[in-house]
Amino acid sequence: MSTTPSPLVSIRGLEKHFATKIAWPRGDKPSLVATLRRSATRMKAVVRAVDGVSLDVYDGETLGLVGESGCGKSTLGRTLLRLLDPTGGEIDFDGRDITHLGQAELRPLRRQMQMIFQDPYASLNPRMTVGQAVAEPLEIHGLASGPTELRERVAALLEKVGLRAEAASRYPHEFSGGQRQRVGIARALAVSPRFVVCDEPISALDVSIQAQIVNLLRALQETDGLTYLFISHDLEIVRYLCDRVAVMYLGRVVELAPAAALYERPGHPYTQALLSAVPRPDPSATRQRVLLEGDVPSPIDPPTGCRFHPRCPVADKPRTCFTESPPLRPLADGRLVACHVAE
Ligand code: SF4
Repeated sequence: MSTTPSPLVSIRGLEKHFATKIAWPRGDKPSLVATLRRSATRMKAVVRAVDGVSLDVYDGETLGLVGESGCGKSTLGRTLLRLLDPTGGEIDFDGRDITHLGQAELRPLRRQMQMIFQDPYASLNPRMTVGQAVAEPLEIHGLASGPTELRERVAALLEKVGLRAEAASRYPHEFSGGQRQRVGIARALAVSPRFVVCDEPISALDVSIQAQIVNLLRALQETDGLTYLFISHDLEIVRYLCDRVAVMYLGRVVELAPAAALYERPGHPYTQALLSAVPRPDPSATRQRVLLEGDVPSPIDPPTGCRFHPRCPVADKPRTCFTESPPLRPLADGRLVACHVAE
């Protein structure tokens, strides 16, 4: 009998495209008529922020999602929670296809799928006390029988994330960044979710506070049996926190592997370049620094073939790099890598 666990979240061929308009380049001061003509004929374009991503997130695990800014990590997180409507593909949660559910059908599921945001201050209403902010999801989902139970549950949630119950009567601006992130975590946990997307939850915090928040997330995972998608560009934190890691480049996943295997034997040239800049735990182990040339291409007009080929140090070996998009395929040890030459 198979012992393969079934995924809590499963996405197949997920796409999220945004319509946009390309601005005309600025030249010498144009006439008014020319400006009006140009703005009337601005070209429409499509930003392929997420462009065919398939992955599973298993019950109780932490899946890291890494990549440079603008690679589509946050859009992927928001789309799989159905905070954004997908352009294509499929999203399953706990075995149920939720890709096309309407808002009313999604509402009970929202309790099970929550998000922790990068900027806790922006995600908290400055006119609400911290107690009101944490109480809000409890009230929306009818999870307290009256004011007394509501107060008790808010106090318990604040204490659970390391704040004093008296914090409930204060406003977000009275707290430090780390304390505000604890409030954001309390809000997300108020509805007892199973799956939480953590979108760069520590990148706006001082380094000294980051470890506290990461350890809090880890402790809460154990006590509450949470499953995380942890989005970050901090590869050291991801190594510390995550069971598996997915590497994104220009809207696609290019490598997916257990964290230990990925950090020891990165298979994709892009992963190798990213990790070459991360200090190794063993100072005697050396790793050659791989410098990536050029900028990340535009997701409006991604390169043909392998999207990484304009920056890939080994791209000129097989001609296929320029013409064929490599699928995510398993290597001998089970790592999934989207590269024609990885082995
Ligand atoms: Fe580089 Fe070719 Fe592999 Fe793409 S498929 S990562 S261009 S070697």
